[in-house]
Amino acid sequence: MFKDTVKSYLYSFIDFASPRRCELCGNYLGTNRRKHEFICDDCYSNFPLPPKSKDILERIQSNFPDEKVINNSYSLFSESDNPDFMELIYSLKYRGFSRIGKELGFELGELIKRKTDVRYDYIIPVPIHHARLRERGFNQSEMICCGISNSLNIPTGFDIIKRARYTQTQTKLSAQERKKNVKDVFVAKSKKYNLSGKTILLVDDVFTTGSTLFHCAKCIIEMKAEKIDTATIVFVG
Ligand SMILES: [Zn+2]
Repeated sequence: MFKDTVKSYLYSFIDFASPRRCELCGNYLGTNRRKHEFICDDCYSNFPLPPKSKDILERIQSNFPDEKVINNSYSLFSESDNPDFMELIYSLKYRGFSRIGKELGFELGELIKRKTDVRYDYIIPVPIHHARLRERGFNQSEMICCGISNSLNIPTGFDIIKRARYTQTQTKLSAQERKKNVKDVFVAKSKKYNLSGKTILLVDDVFTTGSTLFHCAKCIIEMKAEKIDTATIVFVG
C-alpha cells in the first residue's frame, strides 16, 4: 500500500516534469498508471480478445497427434489486423522494447491467474541461439517471462534449456518445414536444475503451429518435468 502511494506520487512528479505518452498512440498516459505503464487503456481496449485454451490445444493436437506433452495453453490475444496491434507485436519481436514485453507478460500472468490455480515451479522462455542473441541483442520471450514472473511471483529459469543449433527463422516456412526445422533443437543447458516432478510454464511470443513449443516441451519432459503449460502473447491463425 505504502509502496503504491510512493509509486503514484513518483509518477505524478515524473508526469509533471516530463509527461509520459503511450508507446503506441502517443496519447498522454496520465497519472493513473498503476495497471498499464506504457500502453494506454484506449489502445488496450482495441486489442483482440484472448483465444480459448481449447482452440490452442486443438492446434497442437492436430499437428502432433501422436504425443501429448503440453497440458494446457494460454495466449493473451488472438490475431488481429488492427495496425496498432501489429505495431505492438512488431515492436515486441524486433525492436527489443523490453518494457512492452514486460508489460504484456504481466498482463498474461494476470490472465493465467484468472484461469487456473496451478502453481508453477519455473517459468521458462523458448531459448534463442546465442548467435541470434548476439545479432538481435535480446530474447523477447525472456522479457515476457519477467512480466509473468512479476505477476505470478514464480521464478524464471533462463538457463535450464538451450538451442543446440541455429535454425532458420520460422516466419517464412510452411507448417511441414517448421516441424522439421525445430526437431531436436532444444537440449538441457544446466545440470543444476532438478525438474523431476516440477510443473513448468513455457513461454514464447507468438503461437503459430505450436511446433517450437512442442519440441521445447519435449526436451523439458525428457528432463523429468511432470507437467507443462504454455503461454504466448499472440495466437496466430
Ligand atoms: Zn495508446
